[in-house]
Amino acid sequence: MSHIFPRHAKSAPPVATGGAGCYLHDAAGKAYLDASGGAAVSCLGHGDRTVIDAVKAQLDSLAFAHTGFFTSEPAERLADLLIAHAPGDLDRVYLVSGGSEATEAAIKLARQYFVETGQPQRGRLVARRQSYHGNTIGALSAGGNAWRRQQFGPLLLDVRHIDPCYEYRLRAEGESVEDYALRAADALEAELERLGPETVMAFMAEPVVGATAGAVPAVPGYFRRIREICDRHGILMILDEVMCGMGRTGSLFACEQDGVAPDILCIAKGLGAGYQPIGAMLCTGRIYDAIAEGSGFFQHGHTYVGHPTAAAAGHAVVSAILERGLVARSAAQGAALREALDAVFGQHPHVGDIRGRGLFLGLELVADRATKAPFDPARRLAARIKAAAFEAGLICYPMSGTIDGRLGDHVLLAPPFIISDDQIGELTDKLGRAIDTALAA
Ligand code: PMP
Repeated sequence: MSHIFPRHAKSAPPVATGGAGCYLHDAAGKAYLDASGGAAVSCLGHGDRTVIDAVKAQLDSLAFAHTGFFTSEPAERLADLLIAHAPGDLDRVYLVSGGSEATEAAIKLARQYFVETGQPQRGRLVARRQSYHGNTIGALSAGGNAWRRQQFGPLLLDVRHIDPCYEYRLRAEGESVEDYALRAADALEAELERLGPETVMAFMAEPVVGATAGAVPAVPGYFRRIREICDRHGILMILDEVMCGMGRTGSLFACEQDGVAPDILCIAKGLGAGYQPIGAMLCTGRIYDAIAEGSGFFQHGHTYVGHPTAAAAGHAVVSAILERGLVARSAAQGAALREALDAVFGQHPHVGDIRGRGLFLGLELVADRATKAPFDPARRLAARIKAAAFEAGLICYPMSGTIDGRLGDHVLLAPPFIISDDQIGELTDKLGRAIDTALAA
């Protein structure tokens, strides 16, 4: 019996014992092609010697020093490296232990910024109905996934959710992409008018939606309009790149491709690549200075903020991504994977949409391609695909639910940037068989 909490499955999962490159192994010696990087975590693959050695060296010199007393060399080096490559005016870094801590910190920083700058009436957050920002109470409140939120309603903050930018389902028949971009973004303007823009502190969104819909990028022009609206009303734009950042979409930060820079940016997952738990919140000098010159400190914190060993891992990972040309590789292998998916699933009667950017790609499954009708949730198609793929030695990330709970089944693919052409063939082959097995069940 396993004493690990929680255990959903009736039978215990296999025990993972090792990993090398794009594969994980279990105690029985079975190999699994890791086509989701866990959940878009393992961007470098498993067993990366450089990162392992950097972590070991850090442990030998300094494992931990509390930031109430010290800064540390790896934390400073990582912050410098992130700022050297960060978009726009992002100028300060707050190092945390994961994605939810980053988004939670972003929400509190936005609020404190307005308190310090004499606008205490600004306390509202607007986010999107198709989004995941984490599982702590603030982050869960920001997220729009009805299934994850449903039990916790009385505990959640009053966050208003607008429709996402979701071309496959929400662009109207005959509407141009340009018009749709503006219409989708103008939902923010309308919501601000309803709420009174002077009561709103920030808008939060994922540039490419991950865990609720399998890699949905915004259409070109959407985020530029969002940026304009935020600026016009003096509200902060918070971008959550916890999943889609760090080269995953073919640029170091996903928002670079949207031609915008946020006021606050959250990253995690690919930042530590699984070698250490780490996330970060980046903010502009304007926000930082307002607090530094006001009360003097961000009223927030966790014991492991700026953890030296985690920071050493993060620095080694970001260095590896930059020095090995892995951003370009993510773009190139992403294009190759996209081509392979188009070849295998382009005519599939139950694959309605293939989408994404770089090595962050998704499939949306439908009962009927013409009407885009989703499958009956009772079929549990996503769960069946996950099980059939796992059985065949493929780790992918199927999920159900888009807007307002369960609408559709999706498969998210986010393999390591080092994936080879042969492994792309293995991925699409195994995924095709897993989808057909699940559909036949
Ligand atoms: N934001 C996004 C966009 C995510 O995808 C996730 C994790 N799936 C989180 C936040 C939360 O990160 P964590 O699980 O590390 O707390």
